[in-house]
Amino acid sequence: MEVVRVIIVKKIFKLGLSWILVHSGFLTCYLKNKRKGILILRYHRIFADDKESLHKIGISKQNFEKQLQYLKNNHKILTLEAAVEILKNQKEIPAKALVITFDDGYKDNWENAFPLLQKYALPATIYLTAGLIGTADLLYWDRLKQLILTSEKSQITLGTNVYKLSTFEEKGESFYKILSELKKADDSLKNKLLGELAVKLPGEKPIHNKEDLLLSWEEVTKMQEAGISFGGHTVNHPLLTRVSLAEAKIEIRNSKNIIEEKLACPVTTFAYPGGAFNPDIRRIVADCGYEAACSTVLGINYPNSDLFALKRKGITDGSSTGLTGEFSPTLFAVEVSGLFDRLFTR
Ligand SMILES: [Zn+2]
Repeated sequence: MEVVRVIIVKKIFKLGLSWILVHSGFLTCYLKNKRKGILILRYHRIFADDKESLHKIGISKQNFEKQLQYLKNNHKILTLEAAVEILKNQKEIPAKALVITFDDGYKDNWENAFPLLQKYALPATIYLTAGLIGTADLLYWDRLKQLILTSEKSQITLGTNVYKLSTFEEKGESFYKILSELKKADDSLKNKLLGELAVKLPGEKPIHNKEDLLLSWEEVTKMQEAGISFGGHTVNHPLLTRVSLAEAKIEIRNSKNIIEEKLACPVTTFAYPGGAFNPDIRRIVADCGYEAACSTVLGINYPNSDLFALKRKGITDGSSTGLTGEFSPTLFAVEVSGLFDRLFTR
């Protein structure tokens, strides 16, 4: 209850502050005179409806369309490749420059995001988990989600931890707790834990929810022909700082090779899964022939920014909705100006 209260108070504060920043003219002035950089947006999933999801990494199609309408009318949307070119060559950055990216390569990017990107003629880059594209395999957190959602057990014990599963809320809490354990594990431990979960959670249906599938190569090719660009996001989506450097190199290099072979065009940018990188990983990405890489560090990119640690801003439904879920143009305006990130984070 306390957490809910804090979230509501924070939301009211942000909505109020946004209203003041927009209506006082401060935001316009800031964007025109102060913000001389490029903001890169980071999306994951675009859902067909706004039904409650256990894993909150997506926004509804309806909300996404309102966001695109706003961006189209108020910002200069660049391709990521053009943004890298500008930053690399210290060219003049257009006012209100912004880039749209998606991580992972979910099928809903084709079904729900792509038609809207086309409708508003906006470019975007999609980072593909190359080894899962065109397969029936799910990303490991979706396998976990399926196991938890379809379980009829009231709780599960893993190691010394007990996870409650009686209600949707408990399942949500347990999902995030187990997910954080899986994120810490290397691939073999991760698979071992998932195997253990599959045994301990009877009631599990065969793991295959169409909703969580990734793109097919046919869908990727069609989007590429329409101007969407694709970048590397490893083959299997490990956290690169949790695997050996030799393994990291294979993941980074092969994702580039697989996509280049399928699309017959150079893949020049990369996104670190889970935003995890360090100087060694950064060097491997550069050595593999990428020209730039996106992180999940918040902030704006300037001509002197590290091209292999580009900053991005994650967008959720909450980035543009008011207290009752309605679209708030003032809140979204301030969120995509990058101003909140300057005010509230270091
Ligand atoms: Zn990812």
